[in-house]
Amino acid sequence: MTTQKPSLPEIPPELQDNVRLMPWDKLYNWGRKRSLWPLFTGLACCAFEFIAAAASRFDLGRFGMDIARASPRQADLMIVSGTVTKKMAPQVVRLYNQMAEPKYVIAMGACAISGGPFKEGYNVVSGVDKLIPVDVYVPGCPPRPEALYNAILTLHAKMEREPIRSLPWYQGGVGDDGIPVPALGPDMVDWQVVGECDLERSK
Ligand code: SF4
Repeated sequence: MTTQKPSLPEIPPELQDNVRLMPWDKLYNWGRKRSLWPLFTGLACCAFEFIAAAASRFDLGRFGMDIARASPRQADLMIVSGTVTKKMAPQVVRLYNQMAEPKYVIAMGACAISGGPFKEGYNVVSGVDKLIPVDVYVPGCPPRPEALYNAILTLHAKMEREPIRSLPWYQGGVGDDGIPVPALGPDMVDWQVVGECDLERSK
């Protein structure tokens, strides 16, 4: 797909050292990507790598993300670091719904991506993308802080490409209902083993 570059007016030569012109989208997205506020969603051991990424040796402050929020109301980036258990799944979805648009999700670590070493465990969701949309996946068990940094830069690149006039959350009224919160029970059935369960029951 080719994107047409917007034409910008010429800057007179005497002003070229002092004046920069850029499309509104670029300026707006530059501000957004440099002011992401992460919601700390540390669910298991990967959370320690996220904590390390935020500490002084690595320093998330370079991206304008100094503080991981404990409240979804002030956060627009959910970093899911750790195993999503079926017991925790409703809380993850509820927090995601409470975040303000536009919002993004990074799935950090094998567990958040697919269930990791606990995949198909009776109590583990096989990836947080079964519950909420994920923008960037960070593989590893656990991924190092550098990998998380690469994911943040990947997310920045994605945000830069977003044309703000056509995004759904600026059109009004979109996404008000949120994602249905899964209930422990029918929504959490592991369909891969349902047949086996029926067989066991019929014995
Ligand atoms: S991916 Fe590995 S380090 Fe991360 S939460 Fe799962 S088991 Fe722990």
